[in-house]
Amino acid sequence: MDPTIQVIGVRGLPLIRKGDDLAGMICERFEFKQGDILIVASSVYSKAKGYTAKLSDITPGIRATRIGGRTGEDPRFIQAVLDASSDILLEYPFVLSELSFGHVGVRAGVDQSNIEDGMIIYLPADPMKAAAEVRQEIQDKTGILVGVIITDTCGRSFRRGQTGNAIGWSGMTAIRDFRGDTDLFGHVLKITEEAVVDEIAGFGNFVMGESNNGVPAVVFRNCPPWSGHNDLYFRQDEDIIRKFMKNPQEMS
Ligand code: GDP
Ligand code: MN
Ligand code: MN
Repeated sequence: MDPTIQVIGVRGLPLIRKGDDLAGMICERFEFKQGDILIVASSVYSKAKGYTAKLSDITPGIRATRIGGRTGEDPRFIQAVLDASSDILLEYPFVLSELSFGHVGVRAGVDQSNIEDGMIIYLPADPMKAAAEVRQEIQDKTGILVGVIITDTCGRSFRRGQTGNAIGWSGMTAIRDFRGDTDLFGHVLKITEEAVVDEIAGFGNFVMGESNNGVPAVVFRNCPPWSGHNDLYFRQDEDIIRKFMKNPQEMS
């Protein structure tokens, strides 16, 4: 019988501040086993690294002031969102943008929750590097090699409700590639690629909770291994939603 997959929240972490040794704090509270997969909320990684800002230090430009006037949001917050973005796909009813590492998200993933009033949290600038770094630090401290996924809670198209998404990962491929496998009836699968890191991030996010649960790290134990590739984000030329948003005429 396959071993049962366990999902364990890391409890007892304090409020994370700039300069904190996040990996060390997690290792003090959780005994890792080889092959565990650690899920870390991007919000706490960013707080530990100081990827935060004070709204009062931000001066909104003309575009941020215009967008804030329409959406009813603080123009300084919108300026932070624009600063975090590499491409703006939509300004209204909310800013939807791409970040330089490939993720497309509402308000560029900039958060005003789980931080002091008047402060914001940016997503890590390079979440792949962040995941690799946490993985290395855990190995240095414990000698144990784990997989690491950095997550953020994200909205999605077509369906109501937010889910946890992977924005960085290390020690695994993002996608489990089923192409070429045969189904139960012998049909060769042509297009099935499973975004495993997002599936794990989604359930990890469920265990984290969103508000005051205080569980920013979750461990998955006994996940069967998978193989595939890391092209989680569509390239611009293959992303039909994005093409449509940029040029609806061309698509109809
Ligand atoms: P995001 O999804 O990465 O934007 O992070 P959230 O703000 O939704 O937080 C995810 C989980 O981590 C929730 O359970 C929060 O209560 C918890 N959390 C956020 N910040 C901290 C912190 O500084 N310390 C602790 N212990 N938990 C936190
Ligand atoms: Mn967030
Ligand atoms: Mn969240």
